[in-house]
Amino acid sequence: MSWQSIIGQKRITTQLQNIILNKQVAQAYCIYGGEGVGQDSIAIEFVRSLLCKDSPANSCGKCKNCEMISKFTHPNLYLLYSIPTPKNGKDSAKESEGNISQPEKIRKEIQKELQEKSLNTYHKMEIDGANSILIEQVRDLQKNFVSLSTYAEGNRFIIIFNADEMNEVSSNALLKVLEEPSTNTIFILTTSRIDGLLPTIISRCQLLRCDPLSIEEIKIALEREFNTPSQQAILLAKLANGSYSKAIELQSSDLEEERSNAMKTLEIIINSSLNEMISHISKVITEFDKNRITAKNHLLLIYYLLRDMLMLKEENPNLIINSDYLSKLDIIKNKIQDNYCEAGMNQCEKSIELLESYVYLPLVFYSFAIKLRRIFN
Ligand SMILES: [Zn+2]
Repeated sequence: MSWQSIIGQKRITTQLQNIILNKQVAQAYCIYGGEGVGQDSIAIEFVRSLLCKDSPANSCGKCKNCEMISKFTHPNLYLLYSIPTPKNGKDSAKESEGNISQPEKIRKEIQKELQEKSLNTYHKMEIDGANSILIEQVRDLQKNFVSLSTYAEGNRFIIIFNADEMNEVSSNALLKVLEEPSTNTIFILTTSRIDGLLPTIISRCQLLRCDPLSIEEIKIALEREFNTPSQQAILLAKLANGSYSKAIELQSSDLEEERSNAMKTLEIIINSSLNEMISHISKVITEFDKNRITAKNHLLLIYYLLRDMLMLKEENPNLIINSDYLSKLDIIKNKIQDNYCEAGMNQCEKSIELLESYVYLPLVFYSFAIKLRRIFN
């Protein structure tokens, strides 16, 4: 890894390199921008470049410091990210021990996700039930890292992934830590929802905005990193809508099969009887109950099929993403009025948001299908 492995983002990476060269490192940064455009990767590379022994303002990738940062094992690096809220009872948060106790299964899942993230910093960590950075975590950070002034030599770094996932209590606790700056401790917050951060926290950070990634930048990165065939890379880049993390997520799924399943669901919602539709959705739910990411992809793929239908209606065939489904789309497009495509797309977006807020999956899908059917019939 080095700054060269960051996709796009020349403006911000040059800015950070200058900060290092001019020795003007601030106490806190907030790196923000659209989802999956590289905030976390930039944060990690910034730390690595600051700690690298061999290369000024860049990372050599070979020295001990670079290696330990890459593996997230450097004693001067502390990572904070959402974890599931411990259940009351014997697995509840044990503040006195300094560590939040999690059941074995979740601990393993967290380890697996961290390892994945260390191998590819663009990986979006998905830990089941994790939607909040807890007050206990901020207390642990204060007690076991920040307040240990003789912990290790040199600057120490705290990276908070998706800092907007701090709730009000943990935000206020973090604010207190920020208000009592300890020497050589640097905070780097990353977020794709800067509105979700307390203004008082934002005001203590130097803000660094990431630019959106272009389809071309994502396509080239997929070809370079994964040897993705050109046509598939374009499709993934378009579906990912500016998010490289999303493109990787889609790539690791069986995209062809998922697209065909999404087309089938859409056809059934539009063409079949209510009973047939309900029975199809119930089958879909059984499959998705094991994997929320696939469920989200399903809705996202339906969104893009509807968007393609709109492009067909507006006679913009060159903007169509699922061009291999053109004939199928052409058959159903006449059944749908123009403005209903957009209403359907809105419905997809709303349902994806519900899944992201951990609303009960069957409820989201039945309600989605029924609403979409109502829009089209
Ligand atoms: Zn190095």
